[in-house]
Amino acid sequence: MGKILFMGAHPDDETFLPGATLAKYADLGHEIYVVSATRGEAGVWADVKPNGKSLGEIRETEHRKAGTILGIKTIEYLDYIDGTLANKHVDDLVTKLKEIAEKINPDVIMTLDLLGISGHIDHIVVSLVTTKMFQEMADIKKLYYFVLPEKVTSEIFNTTGRKVWGRPENEITTTINVERWISNKVEAAKCHQTQMRDVERLIPRWLTYKYDCFVLSGSRVESKFPEEDLFTGI
Ligand SMILES: [Zn+2]
Repeated sequence: MGKILFMGAHPDDETFLPGATLAKYADLGHEIYVVSATRGEAGVWADVKPNGKSLGEIRETEHRKAGTILGIKTIEYLDYIDGTLANKHVDDLVTKLKEIAEKINPDVIMTLDLLGISGHIDHIVVSLVTTKMFQEMADIKKLYYFVLPEKVTSEIFNTTGRKVWGRPENEITTTINVERWISNKVEAAKCHQTQMRDVERLIPRWLTYKYDCFVLSGSRVESKFPEEDLFTGI
C-alpha cells in the first residue's frame, strides 16, 4: 500500500477539494497524511461561538474531526498565519514542509492547482512550495495538482458570478471516480461548522460530481494518459 501526502493552505482545503479522492484511497488501504500551512485564522466564524477559544484553535478541532471521517492518518501544521504566506520566503516553507515529508516518506504528493482555484494567494503559495519540494525530494514518485475542469468553473461563474480558475479538458491527466465517497466528503465538510455558509452552498454541487480531476505535474515513473489511478506506474 502507498502513502499520499496532501499539502494545503487552510484546514478545509483537503475536504472541500480532493476530499472524496482522499477518502477513497484511505478506504483502499493507503495511508493519507495532511499538512496545512495555516490554521485558517483569517476565516469566518459563521454561527459558532468562540467560548474563549481563538478561531485557529476551533478550526484545528474541526479539521481533525473531518480528517477522522476522511480516514486521514495525521494532520500537521506549518504554523503560518492565514493570509500571510505570500510575504514569506518560499525556501523557508519548503524547508519546514520537507522536515515533515521526510518523516512520512510519501510515494505521491498532492496539492492545489497552481492557479489557486478560488484565487486565494495562499493556495498558489502552497502549490509552488509543494512543487519545489517535489524537485528536491527524489524519492517522491508523483506530484498531482487537484484541479477543477473549466466546464465546472464556467458553470460556477454563470450561476454565481464567482470567478474560479479551472483547466481545459486537454490539460487534465488523471480522473478519479469518487462517486461512492462523495458522502464521506459531505460528512467531513459538516465538521467545519465555522465555514457552514460555504458548506451549505457547496454540498448540492458536490452531490452532482462523480469524478475528481488532477494534473500530474511531476513524475519519476512512466505514465500513460489518461490515468484513472494515482498509483499508476508506481
Ligand atoms: Zn483554502
